[in-house]
Amino acid sequence: MKILSFESSCDETSCAVIEDGRHILSDVISTQVPIHKKFGGVVPEIASRHHIEDVLPVAIEALEQAGCSWEDIDAIAVTQGPGLVGALLVGVAAAKAAAWALDKPLVAVNHMEGHIFANLLQYPDLEPPFLSLVVSGGHTMIVVVKDYNTFQLLGQTRDDAAGEAFDKIARVMGYPYPGGPHIDRLAQEGNPDAISFPMGLGREHTFDFSFSGLKSAVINYLNTAKMKKEEINPKDVAASFQKAVVDVLVEKAMKAAEATGYKTIALAGGVAANSGLRKALKEECDKRGIRMCRPDPVLCTDNGAMIGCRAYYMAKAGDFAPMNLNADPRLPFLADQLKL
Ligand code: ATP
Ligand code: MG
Ligand code: FE
Repeated sequence: MKILSFESSCDETSCAVIEDGRHILSDVISTQVPIHKKFGGVVPEIASRHHIEDVLPVAIEALEQAGCSWEDIDAIAVTQGPGLVGALLVGVAAAKAAAWALDKPLVAVNHMEGHIFANLLQYPDLEPPFLSLVVSGGHTMIVVVKDYNTFQLLGQTRDDAAGEAFDKIARVMGYPYPGGPHIDRLAQEGNPDAISFPMGLGREHTFDFSFSGLKSAVINYLNTAKMKKEEINPKDVAASFQKAVVDVLVEKAMKAAEATGYKTIALAGGVAANSGLRKALKEECDKRGIRMCRPDPVLCTDNGAMIGCRAYYMAKAGDFAPMNLNADPRLPFLADQLKL
């Protein structure tokens, strides 16, 4: 089964052709990062306009790279949400038009489930059940993937997402959007014990997270230094902040593994590209005989391939969308709350 997928939830226009769920025939990503950089973040209206310009050429390029024609496609998949409404609408309209014109079924995918399923593309042998630590620009969650279509939520952030904290702090430090990769690079040369920043909800008995206190603490530190005209070491600030984030993520992931007994943790979302997080999680997993999975960086951030992969398992279960499908910017992550 060949699926053509559309992803346009934020500032990447991406289309992919996925065969039988796990084989990437093509994954074309047109990023708007250079466009939004000068504004210090994604401008929704500008993002929508660029999606409109890019969506058709990106789809055609994805078909070309996959060596197929429109007629070879068996189903069309699209990110329904969560994301920016105007951005999502472009993908949804394009996907509906393609499904209608080709008379093929339409599959509506939750973007966060897509991030998790990027792991299935990376590891051909990976099968549920497994735990997933999802760390992205807008979400931070610990999820049990029970089977291909059943999710349980163990915990999530009560305020900011981890990626949001990376981006805000980098911005205050004078680095362009998106800030995560800059902090990652600086942190590699800094001292993680130079400054003690608070670990939100680190000591509490919950699988929930909180990053807004940490974000404010780092920004206050930077502002105070600026006021007092004191030199700061950006590498040490980045390393100390990143350590506070990584420590709490890894600690809770380990507790979740212990509490549930699952022996596989799949890291997902844009922040999964972070080298410090990957290294620390791998070390702790190795100590406990847990298998750690993580997609290549290009599959961690937004891409069409992960949407096509997720859609395959929905299509196999007969979970198709109606032709009056609408984008949902706040599409909930439909999972049972798991209390342990
Ligand atoms: P969501 O998926 O929650 O809707 P999003 O799609 O905007 O949000 P992603 O594309 O998953 O987010 O990830 C983008 C985020 O990942 C940004 O916050 C970016 O700074 C962060 N990021 C990317 N690479 C790294 C890195 N190496 N270290 C830390 N953060 C990173
Ligand atoms: Mg993006
Ligand atoms: Fe995303």
